[in-house]
Amino acid sequence: MHEMSIVQGLLDIIRQEMGRHGVTRLHEVKVVHGRLTNVVPEALDLAWEVLSKDTEFEGARLVTEEIPLRLRCGACRAEFSPEHLSAVLAPCPSCGEELGHEVVAGREMYIAQIEAE
Ligand SMILES: [Zn+2]
Repeated sequence: MHEMSIVQGLLDIIRQEMGRHGVTRLHEVKVVHGRLTNVVPEALDLAWEVLSKDTEFEGARLVTEEIPLRLRCGACRAEFSPEHLSAVLAPCPSCGEELGHEVVAGREMYIAQIEAE
């Protein structure tokens, strides 16, 4: 389950950020993840619960938001969200081209907000 290592990384970043801002109590963290990262929100929740337990982050809320996959057609440059989760063999709705699309959104994974005091 790669969510465990993701949450481990998030906790490290949050700890650093909180230290930098001199806050000690985490209330909520919002994580944005693109569709292509294959993150399962439920698994992320579970990993968060397990890894934050017995730490200074126990009881803090994890909020996740998924960004849909968006591609730019390699032939006509039109942007679209493919029906199926694939950056290849996704037919462009404008011209029908299936190959060579560029991923505009869907690969990102970042902390959007940390609420702490
Ligand atoms: Zn096209």
